[in-house]
Amino acid sequence: MSRRWLFADQLGPHFLDDRHQPVLLIESKAVFRRRAFHRQKAHLVLSALRHRAAELGDQATFLRTETYADALRRIREPLDVCHPTSQAALRFVEGLDQVTVLPPRGFVTGLDDFAAWADGRRGALRMEAFYRFARQHHQVLVEGDEPVGGRWSRDTENREPPPKDVQRLDVPPPPMPREDDIDAEVRADLDRWEREGIRFVGRDGPRRFPATGREARARLRHFLKHRLGQFGPYEDAMLSTDPWMAHSMLSSSFNLGLLDPLEAVRGAEQAYRRQDVPLASVEGFVRQIIGWRDFVWNLYWYFGPDYPASNELAARRSVPDWFHDLDADAVRAHCLSDILADLRDHGWVHHIPRLMVLGNYALQRGWRPAELVDWFHRSFVDGYEWVMTVNVVGMSQYADLGRMSTKPYVSGGAYINRMSDYCGGCRYDPKQRLGEHACPFTAGYWTFLARNRDRIPGNARMAQPMSRLDRLADVDRVIDQEEHRGDGPP
Ligand code: SF4
Repeated sequence: MSRRWLFADQLGPHFLDDRHQPVLLIESKAVFRRRAFHRQKAHLVLSALRHRAAELGDQATFLRTETYADALRRIREPLDVCHPTSQAALRFVEGLDQVTVLPPRGFVTGLDDFAAWADGRRGALRMEAFYRFARQHHQVLVEGDEPVGGRWSRDTENREPPPKDVQRLDVPPPPMPREDDIDAEVRADLDRWEREGIRFVGRDGPRRFPATGREARARLRHFLKHRLGQFGPYEDAMLSTDPWMAHSMLSSSFNLGLLDPLEAVRGAEQAYRRQDVPLASVEGFVRQIIGWRDFVWNLYWYFGPDYPASNELAARRSVPDWFHDLDADAVRAHCLSDILADLRDHGWVHHIPRLMVLGNYALQRGWRPAELVDWFHRSFVDGYEWVMTVNVVGMSQYADLGRMSTKPYVSGGAYINRMSDYCGGCRYDPKQRLGEHACPFTAGYWTFLARNRDRIPGNARMAQPMSRLDRLADVDRVIDQEEHRGDGPP
């Protein structure tokens, strides 16, 4: 049996053919020299890799080197590796004589099955259609070929605003990992690397995300039992005092390869069939995993190597330093400041702050999509090129002009006001688009529409906002105001 080279995002037992298979693990320092990752992300990745090496013991050859090539020069035997998760890593392994590349693992729908599904469709590819295919193909929450409960999506039941006058959702917090000697060693190494000149962003803090399969499975069991029921209705809601809400906080575990996604999906399905958990919550969780996660993974490969450079809205502005540096204290807009602070302190915020606050703000200002992909990749504990490329270029920034998304995810302050408790404590007013108290999201919304009026014609879902834009008498003044605001923090 060949030695299996496991990348640092291929760490679970489902990446091996046999539990005794010999393994190669490589820790490359050069990865951290090239770009400034969030300190807690660097910690999590190194901790997970070193924990896996410790678990495997003599079964693994574990090399810590400057580059992957340095490590591979020391290996004299043939290797195989599961399909890596980035275009650059795939090109690298395909160029190595000693390495055989195997199909991907860690996802539910295979690349060939996805391509066969996508090739047979006309027009844009839509997650809803793929999700239906995946439910049927993998027999998840179906009876025969029909969805359990009669509908494929319960999304309309899963858009509740946060409950009023509460600090936290009424769910027990997720179990936090207990740090050990490996974490202490990682922390000391990162301190030393910083002294040597390697730069990180964000703050250090206790490790909050699983670094081992055992920790990840414990968090999954706890989620299914105690938190999943509340996940569905409040999955899009934001509370300034509850960054976790009822989210599973397992995305980094899936993306490190610690957890098999199908195992999590089957667990959620069982929770429903035992009648422990409402169908809307279970369906929402299943949709995130075999729907959305697999959809963006497959599109990353299906759209090919030119896709990351898509910029159909001609967004040319650089991401400003205060955003790069997660400088929450420089920002006065309550929602944006609070979310940047959560990201600075935890390396994670859930999908709605990402899409409707961070991504929305960037889209309105015309920041370069490729720079944003890099920012999301580096700043989030669960960020990888494959997941951020499609989520940012396609969904958040609409830079592919709708190849996988029905409309730009752009909104004014009204959406944030409805789905959060941020606006009550803000110096700005979500209803104002002009003047001292103009909400930067509301003003940015109209500016975005005006700037892109000719670039997104013919989109039926944008017809109504565009016709409202046409009736706004003060739009030129709003545009002037936003130009004066410039790229400084709002
Ligand atoms: Fe955010 Fe605008 Fe609400 Fe302030 S008023 S919290 S800037 S949406």
